Amino acid sequence: MKIFSFYHAGVIFLCCILFFSGCGRHAEKKDVVVLTVPPAFPVIHPLEVKEGKEEKSANDVIKITTEGKKKKDEPVITEKKMMDVPVIHRKNEKVVHEFVYIDQKRYLVPAVWRGNKITRKSPAMNQMRQVPVQFTHGGTHIYAEKEACNAFVAMAEQALVEDIHIEVHSGFRSVWYQEKIFIKHMAKGRDWDDLVRYVAPPGYSEHALGTAFDFYPSNWQFADSSAYRWLQEHAHEFGFRETYPKHSPKGFPWEAWHWRYVGREVER
Ligand SMILES: [Zn+2]
Repeated sequence: MKIFSFYHAGVIFLCCILFFSGCGRHAEKKDVVVLTVPPAFPVIHPLEVKEGKEEKSANDVIKITTEGKKKKDEPVITEKKMMDVPVIHRKNEKVVHEFVYIDQKRYLVPAVWRGNKITRKSPAMNQMRQVPVQFTHGGTHIYAEKEACNAFVAMAEQALVEDIHIEVHSGFRSVWYQEKIFIKHMAKGRDWDDLVRYVAPPGYSEHALGTAFDFYPSNWQFADSSAYRWLQEHAHEFGFRETYPKHSPKGFPWEAWHWRYVGREVER
């Protein structure tokens, strides 16, 4: 009985070793998508400082590509869905499709964003300033372009005098960071057409300018807040504008929480 137990224990021990070492090898072979948590201040990806390369194809479609990401004979991912994309046609006007690359796959930019690619470069690191943590939600480290940040601090301090608390929820986001947002959600099973209704395609977000701020809470509740009412009255005094307003002439969805410093900014 004693020998049997010892033998039995040995067999179980060996099985455990084989099982766990087997698991390890299996996991290594699996095609695992590793998503790292983006840093609070995203590193500027070398690709984003390059201008989008434009090239004309035979059927007058402009492909906007990012240098270094384009692959020859790359399959078009959402071309089959092109017919489903609502497009406002004017007489004799050709629709010029635009594309972005997410994780090296090509996606069609929806009509609402078309023609609104941000052409200005993101500010360099030394042109940035960290938003003082007392003005960020949860004390997170958020960066913005220096002049915009200074204007925001002046505005937030004035608001505070009037007992209005304005907290930044998001500031500068690089094109690379914007792409990571898509990669992260797509890995969870959400598709491009769904996501792009709520998130600007990489290269199209004003946050890449370093002058745009999302205030907390960056959702529909913000429109009912005292901070929003205060901003509507005073933000222009500090050079800020609500760039996705309620009835946007460009047809963008309303984002009451999103404000951009336009003070001395050269219009894009
Ligand atoms: Zn925003």
